[in-house]
Amino acid sequence: MADRPLTLMAVHAHPDDEATGTGGVLARYAAEGIRTVLVTCTDGACGDGPGGVKPGEDGHDPQAVAALRRKELEASCRVLGVDHLETLDYGDSGMMGWPANDAPGSFWGSPVAEGAARLAELIRHYRPDVVVTYDENGFYGHPDHIQAHRITMAALDLAPDLASKVYWTTAPHSAMKRFGEVMREFGADWDEPAGASEPDGEADGSGGTGGADGTGGAGSAVEAPELPPIGLPDEEVTTWVDTSAYGGQKYDALAAHASQGENIFFLRMGKERFTELMGIETFVRVRDTTGAPLPEQDLFAGLR
Ligand SMILES: [Zn+2]
Repeated sequence: MADRPLTLMAVHAHPDDEATGTGGVLARYAAEGIRTVLVTCTDGACGDGPGGVKPGEDGHDPQAVAALRRKELEASCRVLGVDHLETLDYGDSGMMGWPANDAPGSFWGSPVAEGAARLAELIRHYRPDVVVTYDENGFYGHPDHIQAHRITMAALDLAPDLASKVYWTTAPHSAMKRFGEVMREFGADWDEPAGASEPDGEADGSGGTGGADGTGGAGSAVEAPELPPIGLPDEEVTTWVDTSAYGGQKYDALAAHASQGENIFFLRMGKERFTELMGIETFVRVRDTTGAPLPEQDLFAGLR
C-alpha cells in the first residue's frame, strides 16, 4: 500500500505508563512488523526516588529521578520492541493539587497549543495510522494524563488528514472488578474505583477539553457534569485486543521501571498471574476512517 510501514503511535504522560497502559499492544504490533512510536510527555521527576522516597522528602532529587527514569524508559522500550522513543521532556506535574502542578516547565502548566504543535510535528514526521492516548480524564485524573489527552487531540486537529484511527485507553467495568479482587488478594489498600478518582480532579475536567475529541461515539458517554467513573461499562468498550501472548514482555517492561513503588506491587503477583489479569488491553475508538465494524479485536482492523 503506502511507501511506509503501518505505524502505531502511543502518547503517554510518564515513563512507565507505556508499560502499564499499552505494553501489550506495543509488543504485539512490533512483533507483527508494525512500526511503533512512543511519545512520553514528561520526565517523571515526581516519581519515587531511591528507596521509595517521595517528592519533597529528604533524599528525593528530582533531576536524579528523571535521569534514572529515562534509563528505565529506554530499557522498557527495548523490551517492548518500540522502534522510536520521543520525549517532550516537560516537567512532571505530580498528582492533582501538588505544588509541582504550577512549577515552571510543568506539563500541566504549559499551554496546550504549544505541546500540540510539538506533537503535531511528530505526527507529520511518523504519519501514524493509529494513535492511542488517554480519555479526557486521563483515565484516573492525573493532570499529566489529562494534558497528554489534550495535546494529542489538539495535535490531531492540526494534522487532520493523518491517523486513520484514534483510540483512548479504557478499562471495562468487569475487568476493574476483577482487578480490585486481585489487588486485595495481594494486600493492596484498594477501594472499588467506581466514582471519583483524585480528590479534586473535577476542578479541571471542564475547561477546554482540548478539542471536541473526534467523532465522539462511545466516548461521549463520559461527558457527564460530575466526575465520571474510571473505565466504561463493558458494552461501551469498542476494542478488545488480546495481548496475552505478550504478557511476559509487558511484565518485563514494567520490571524495567522497578524504581517506582506501584510497579513493584504489580511485579509481586508474578508473570503468570499478571498476564492473566492484564492480558486483554481495551480501548474506545473515537476517530475512524476505515469503517471497520465494532466491536473489534485489532487496532489495525480495516488497515491491513
Ligand atoms: Zn502516568
